[in-house]
Amino acid sequence: MIDFEIPADIQAIRAKVGAFIDEHVLPAESEIGTRPFFDIVKELQAKARAEGLWCPFVPKEWGGMGLGHLANAIVQIEVGRSFTHLGAWALNCMGPQDATMVTLIEHGTPEQKEKYLKPLVNGDIRICFSMTERAAGADATGMQTRAVEDGDEWVLNGEKWFSSSASISQLALVMAKTDPDAPRHRQFSTFLVELPNAGYRILRDIPVMGEDGHKRYKDEKTGGHAEVRIENLRVPAKNLLGGRGNGFSMGQHRLGYGRLRHGMWSIAKAQAALDMAAKRASERVTFGKPVAERQAVQFQLAECATQLYITRLMVLHIAYKMERGLDLTQENSMAKNYIAHMLHHVIDTALQIHGSLGYTHDTPLAHWYVAARSNRLVDGPDEVHDWKVGRTVLETYKRTGSTAAAAGGDLV
Ligand SMILES: Cc1cc2nc3c(=O)[nH]c(=O)nc-3n(C[C@H](O)[C@H](O)[C@H](O)COP(=O)(O)OP(=O)(O)OC[C@H]3O[C@@H](n4cnc5c(N)ncnc54)[C@H](O)[C@@H]3O)c2cc1C
Repeated sequence: MIDFEIPADIQAIRAKVGAFIDEHVLPAESEIGTRPFFDIVKELQAKARAEGLWCPFVPKEWGGMGLGHLANAIVQIEVGRSFTHLGAWALNCMGPQDATMVTLIEHGTPEQKEKYLKPLVNGDIRICFSMTERAAGADATGMQTRAVEDGDEWVLNGEKWFSSSASISQLALVMAKTDPDAPRHRQFSTFLVELPNAGYRILRDIPVMGEDGHKRYKDEKTGGHAEVRIENLRVPAKNLLGGRGNGFSMGQHRLGYGRLRHGMWSIAKAQAALDMAAKRASERVTFGKPVAERQAVQFQLAECATQLYITRLMVLHIAYKMERGLDLTQENSMAKNYIAHMLHHVIDTALQIHGSLGYTHDTPLAHWYVAARSNRLVDGPDEVHDWKVGRTVLETYKRTGSTAAAAGGDLV
C-alpha cells in the first residue's frame, strides 16, 4: 500500500516550527526596515535555538536537529511561509549556507569542519558561493578563473559574477580551474576563502530586476549579487575542499538538497498567492457578480491548484528517493523546471486576478513575481535542464526500449 501519511514525529516537528514562525517570525517581519536586519535575525536565532529549532538538516553531532530529507522538506514548508526569508535566517537554514554546511559535513577535512563548519552551524559567519562568471554560467565548465599551485598555497586569478550574499559573507566557496588538461568535469576545484580578502575584491552588488520596488531593504545590505575581481588571491592548500578536480562532482548532492528546500518554499509561496487569488476573486464584483463566479477564472484557479498538487507529489517523491539514496538526477531536473514555472504561473495568475492592484506594491505579488523569475535561471536555466532531461529520455529508450524509466516509471 502506498502511504502518503506524514509520520507523527515529523508532524509534531512541523507543528512546532509552524508555531514558531507564527509566534515569532511573522510578527518580526514588520520590523524589517525599522532597525538593522541582522539584529532582528540574531534575536530570532536566540529564540529558535532555545526551542531546539536549529539547522534542521544538520546532524545532531554537529549541533543541528538531525532531520532526514522528508522531515526537513516538511519543516521547510513552514519556514517558507516567511517570504522575507526571515524564517530561514531564524533557523539558520538560509541558502547558500545550508547547502554549504551539507557539503562541508560530507567532504570537509576535520580541520575545515572545526574552523568553518562549526561557526557556520553556530550562526557566527555567513558564506557565499562563487562559481558563475561573466564568461560562463549555464555551461560552468567555461569558467576562466585559474588556480595555480605555489608551495603550500594556491594563487587564484579571474572574476566572478552573481556571487549572492558575498557582500555580507565572511567566507566564500570559490570554484577555479586547477587542472586544465583533465577531462572537462575534472578540471575544477573548490576553495574555502576567508572574507574580506584583498584578493577577492567585490566590485559592486549588481543592480537587479525589481529591487527598486522592494524598498524595505534599501539602505541596508542583506544579500545582493556581487561582481568580484579575483587578483592574486592566495589560499592555503589545506583550504581546498573535497579533493582536487572534484568541484563538479561534489555539487551533486547539494543540488538534491537545494531542490527540496526551494521546492517547499515555492509551494508555500504559491499556496499563499493562490489563497490571495481566491480571496480577491470572491470579493471583487465586476459586471454584477463576483469575479470568482466566472468559469474563466475558475479554470485559472483550477490550473494553479493542479500545478501545486503536482509539485507536492514531485517533492515528496524526491524526498523519498533521497532518503533511500536512489539516483534522482532526472527527477531533480524535471522538478527544478516544473516548480520554477509553477511558481511563476501561480503568482502571475494571482496578480492578474488582482487587476491593477496586483501591479502595485500594496500587495506582495509584484515583488514575488519578479523574485520568482530568477528561479528559471538560478541553478541552471530551463533549457539546460530540459536538454539533459530530453537526452536521458532518448538514452533510456535506446537502452531499454522504453522511455518509462526517464519519466517516473519506477512509480507505476
Ligand atoms: C538571482 C540570481 C542569483 C544567483 N546566485 C548565484 C550564486 O550565488 N553563485 C553563482 O555561482 N551563481 C549564481 N547565479 C548565476 C546562475 O547560476 C546563472 O545565471 C545560471 O547558471 C545561468 O548562467 P548565465 O546567467 O551565465 O547564462 P548563460 O550561460 O549566458 O545562458 C543564457 C541563456 O542561454 C540559453 N542556453 C544556455 N545554454 C543552453 C543550451 N545548452 N540549450 C539551450 N539554451 C541554452 C538559456 O536560455 C540561458 O538562460 C545567480 C543568478 C541569479 C539570476
